[in-house]
Amino acid sequence: MIPYGKQHIDEDDIRIVTQVLRSDWLTCGQMVPDFENALAKVCQAEHCVAVSSGTAALHAAMAALGIGKDDEVIVPSITFAATANAVTYCGGTPVFADVEEDTLLLSPEGAEKAITPRTKAIVGVDYAGQPCDWSSLRALADKHGLALVADSCHALGATCEGRPVNAFADMTVYSFHPVKHIATGEGGAIATDSLEYANFMRRFRNHGISSDARMRESAGTWYYEMVELGYNYRLTDIQCALGLSQLNKLDSFLKRRRSIASKYDKAFAEGPVRPLQVKPNRTHAYHLYVVRVPERDTLFAELREAGIGVQVHYIPVHLHPFYRKNFGTGRGLCPVAEAAYEQIVSIPMFPALQDAQIQTVVDTFSELLKNK
Ligand SMILES: *Cc1c(COP(=O)(O)O)cnc(C)c1O
Repeated sequence: MIPYGKQHIDEDDIRIVTQVLRSDWLTCGQMVPDFENALAKVCQAEHCVAVSSGTAALHAAMAALGIGKDDEVIVPSITFAATANAVTYCGGTPVFADVEEDTLLLSPEGAEKAITPRTKAIVGVDYAGQPCDWSSLRALADKHGLALVADSCHALGATCEGRPVNAFADMTVYSFHPVKHIATGEGGAIATDSLEYANFMRRFRNHGISSDARMRESAGTWYYEMVELGYNYRLTDIQCALGLSQLNKLDSFLKRRRSIASKYDKAFAEGPVRPLQVKPNRTHAYHLYVVRVPERDTLFAELREAGIGVQVHYIPVHLHPFYRKNFGTGRGLCPVAEAAYEQIVSIPMFPALQDAQIQTVVDTFSELLKNK
């Protein structure tokens, strides 16, 4: 089976992880700030805070905004459940907005319609790796006095109008799950230009305690204060070392993903497989390559049968039983997302995908669609 996504680990990665395993600091060591600083450079952000997953990063961002009971946060319906769950963890209400037909990105009009007096923030998701219309979302957030968060778990290395997404959002969230652009096993981070948010999130990942073990050791003190309720969301030195080494390869990973995408674009130019649109003025990071196909459910099963590891990203979050039951969501809330969900499929996209495998994917589609 050719998977839809897969990490790429080389000998440099193994060497640096092994070095950490032989060192004194498996967690709370120097690798953490080293990784954070390297990531901050890539994101052109003042600060990066590494945490134990992309989900923890979203949770930390919502907590930094002070989201709580009676607060609403606008999220797109087409995303991974974690985007909405982070709002729910804080006691807030995720309000699902519809997406643009051609890109499946949060539509600024859809977001504006969802604003109420209780709205505190908008979360855009750079679905598949294509940045949202961040200028419009920023203007909308500013007009209504809202915070703007980027769930860029699909889009490390993408740009919007020539700038990293962090130039537009108050906080930008990344994931380092093995299918994402760089892998740390589990892992995530938040990029931000706000020292206040960064300091809050550094405490939040460490039980709400204002210093970590390494800081206390170097200061020769045992005293610490827990100033608010936090979690253990730390990323280990083992993971940060892997992240640092993977980050060195980000440019080559992105280059290969874009080259695979252009091969697919060419192969599918004549239909009936219809790739999502890419907007001008944005560079796409191609976490996913998503296409619309006829008779999706049948084709999905046939593709799997033929050894093509397709996936569907995503079941609209407002259709999940949890959200239906607890927030009264359901069919009809986001018609564009619901219609797209019936048609989409994500096909293999990862740096180590071989040209011959790309051809196999394309040929299998032609073969299976011949009679449809
Ligand atoms: C992967 C992902 C997350 C969660 O990241 P984890 O590291 O798996 O917790 C959140 N949002 C989106 C859009 C994602 O793709």
